[in-house]
Formats: sequence, structure tokens, C-alpha cells
Amino acid sequence: LTAGSGRAFSRLQQRAKRQGFDLRIASSYRDYERQLAIFNGKVSGQRPVTDDHGLVLSRADCAALPWLLRILRFSALPGVSRHHWGSDCDVFDAARISRDSLQLVPREYDAQGPCGALSQWLTEQIERDDAEGFFRPYDRDRGGVAPEPWHLSYRPDAERFARFVNREEALMLWRGRLLHEVGKPTQAVALLATIEEHGEALWARFVVL
Ligand SMILES: [Zn+2]
Repeated sequence: LTAGSGRAFSRLQQRAKRQGFDLRIASSYRDYERQLAIFNGKVSGQRPVTDDHGLVLSRADCAALPWLLRILRFSALPGVSRHHWGSDCDVFDAARISRDSLQLVPREYDAQGPCGALSQWLTEQIERDDAEGFFRPYDRDRGGVAPEPWHLSYRPDAERFARFVNREEALMLWRGRLLHEVGKPTQAVALLATIEEHGEALWARFVVL
């Protein structure tokens, strides 16, 4: 995490501890290459792609666009993931479930799930705007990205990073142009033609800034 979000997270962690929770990070910063590998792995079917109920789907029955929409429901395109910023993280209650058994699925965060009580406590803090600057960008279903009760974002940093994300630069990255920050070549994103054809609609629906 960034320095600011790291300090804020420690404060939130201390407060959670007093409520009996062991608030921990399952995943935070992810670079472009890592997100590209996740996304391309799902397109090729090497990584599982599921429906909203967690049922694993078969690539064989699915045309390019519906397959892409399925993937984007749970995984961001590389370059536009909020996990690139260092301000966002996925959290869980380590007092009630181990990192290894955690799957980051909705039922774990439902009232009966192992992270349900923590999730409810976080909801209360966020609603009072008393969560040390954190909020949930995927709090409810807006028809694009599925709700992610585990995903927290540190607003003061995230707002600054969001201003640098734009569709033209994302397109260059997806085409496999040089990553100018690090100067190393990267491979093109899978399903590039479909992404280019539907770029504007996909951006409006799935890029949450
Ligand atoms: Zn996340």
C-alpha cells in the first residue's frame, strides 16, 4: 500500500481488533503484468471463469463478447484495475478464516459467512464516514463489476490516481505498446479486437474510477 493508505489501514486494523476482528489484507498492489496474466489466463480458459453463483463456465459454448463480459464482471482489464494504485486492497477476518482457504466470494461475506461480522462492522464505519478514509468502490451491483464487499479503497490516494486513467493510454497498453514507465515491452491483451470494437461501452460499464 502507499504510505498514506498503509497508515490509515493500520488505524482501521487497531479499531477492528478492539471489536474482536483480525483485519488482514488478502491482496493489495498488483502490477500491469500480473493483471495481464490473470486476464489473459481467463480468456484462454487456463484460469476458471464463473457465473454469478460461482459455477465454472466453459469457453467452448461462449462467443467472444459474452465471454469478455463474463470475465470483466470479476476481473479488471490490465491497466485499469484499482489494484494498480496501491490505495486499494481486499480484506478478510483472519480470526475466522485462513488466508489459504479464503476464496473472496460473496458467501464468505454474507451474514453467516466467516467474514460476515467484519463486513457488517466495516459497512457501519463506512456509512458513518468513519473508516479512516476507506470506502467500497464496488459496494453494489451497477450492472458491470459484481459487488465486492472485501474490496476497500483509500479515497484520498485513489482519487488522485483515478485522474491519470484514460481510455487512450489504456488502448495503447492493450495493444502491447511499450510501457513507458518501465520501458519494457509487454504482450497484447487477449480479445483485443472485441475490446477495441466495444471500447466505449466497456469503459462506461466496467471501469470504476
Ligand atoms: Zn479487489
